[in-house]
Amino acid sequence: MSWAYTEDASGFKGHTDRVAVPRDEAELIAVLDEARAARIPVTISGAGTGLAGGRVAQGGWTLSTERFQRIEIHDGWATAGSGVSLADLQAAARPSGQFYPPDPTETLASLGGTVACNASGSRSFLYGATREWLRCLRVVLMDGRVLDVRRGDRLDFDVPALPRPGTKKVSCGFPLQPGMDWIDLFTGSEGILGIVTEVEVGLLPIPQALLNGVVFFPDEERTLNAIDAWRPIPGLRMLEFACHQSLRLIAQRFPEIPAQAQGAAIIEQIVSGESDFDLWSDRLAAGGALEHDSWFGTSDGDRERFRRFRHALPESVNDACRRNGFMKLGSDYAVPLERHREMIRYYRAQCDPVLDDRYVIYGHIGDAHVHLNMLPASQADFDNGKALMVDFARKAVELGGTVAAEHGLGKRKAHLLKLQYTSEQISQMAEVKRRLDPDWLLGRGNLLDVPPEFTQ
Ligand SMILES: Cc1cc2nc3c(=O)[nH]c(=O)nc-3n(C[C@H](O)[C@H](O)[C@H](O)COP(=O)(O)OP(=O)(O)OC[C@H]3O[C@@H](n4cnc5c(N)ncnc54)[C@H](O)[C@@H]3O)c2cc1C
Repeated sequence: MSWAYTEDASGFKGHTDRVAVPRDEAELIAVLDEARAARIPVTISGAGTGLAGGRVAQGGWTLSTERFQRIEIHDGWATAGSGVSLADLQAAARPSGQFYPPDPTETLASLGGTVACNASGSRSFLYGATREWLRCLRVVLMDGRVLDVRRGDRLDFDVPALPRPGTKKVSCGFPLQPGMDWIDLFTGSEGILGIVTEVEVGLLPIPQALLNGVVFFPDEERTLNAIDAWRPIPGLRMLEFACHQSLRLIAQRFPEIPAQAQGAAIIEQIVSGESDFDLWSDRLAAGGALEHDSWFGTSDGDRERFRRFRHALPESVNDACRRNGFMKLGSDYAVPLERHREMIRYYRAQCDPVLDDRYVIYGHIGDAHVHLNMLPASQADFDNGKALMVDFARKAVELGGTVAAEHGLGKRKAHLLKLQYTSEQISQMAEVKRRLDPDWLLGRGNLLDVPPEFTQ
């Protein structure tokens, strides 16, 4: 039994009878052969930074990709093993003046894990999610077959058309569409269709100059108004939000947060000249920001300080949940851009009477995708929070949104799939799963209910 693999960053726990850490594909296929012969479920583990319990086995074997570490950097693209962390990929790309655009905040995440969740994060405001940056995937299926699929290689079987939410990001089941390609099927498939062993991704030249800022406001209304006004700014590649409870949560780590701040917008812009800088003082004045207390910078050091500030938000939530002995209760819902104010108003109206200040809202507001996280102090808080989370998922769907934008549903949130899709549509996804993994051995319990014949 290895505890290191039986939990993820959300605090979700499980148990495993064996952890296999293959050195190469041949060893990986040998493990799958053994598991298949004995009908033993296999759960794929990346770096364990996932937030939906997907890599946490509930019995059976765990298969880690951590030894798939090859990296090759080329002009405009890179090939990397699925166990390579985002931090290592960026470090390898940097000397060539390039970077990998998706940035799901947590740089320890493995490339394979980010493919499996279609991870996105703050820079996806400009660059889109992981899906958009995949050129080629190498995937081992449960029966040992190895597929090398390039963007545009179509499925060799028919699938129906499923409705797509009207959001910028989705990580909620298989996005089935007639004529779709293999890469779109495997991306976001949460480790239940195959094991990604190698990934070819696109790279971009590192921008010449970036402007970073944390802009504070005296109230939430002005923060949200400014954010809506700033969305079309050219070169803006990050537009994030932190509510007043979020600022209080990290105030000890960042005592320089102005005391009167009741909301913040975190921005990053690719800039081309002095005029780009000048425009910000007009924007701050027009938006009623706390001009003199806001932070701006252009150096790598500034950028790193602001990155730590942004990253402190989910880190502090995760720490608080662990400290209080509760699993993370966080939303990953997104709505169409024009409905995001309505969603935030709904969050506030439902949470304030029940949780008082024991919740925070922050994140990817540029994409109408903020994370609401509860900070339960008691079992009653946790139970209330859990019920609210389901209610919020319903509301997101009612507004044309999605119940999972970037984390996937894993095991912890698999019940939400039924709010997004009809049982017939979910059966159509299950058909695809059966085609690639007839004995339902891979990632059992993630995303789709395990059919009764496999649970005995
Ligand atoms: C502090 C913090 C902040 C975060 N912020 C963001 C954010 O802004 N945006 C965002 O998108 N995510 C965010 N995340 C979530 C997390 O980093 C992503 O979900 C990440 O994509 C998971 O990668 P991993 O390697 O840790 O995967 P794991 O947690 O190990 O696994 C996740 C899922 O992927 C499957 N899987 C893993 N590797 C493979 C493979 N090679 N082949 C097939 N399936 C595989 C697993 O079975 C599991 O279902 C954050 C997490 C933390 C802790």
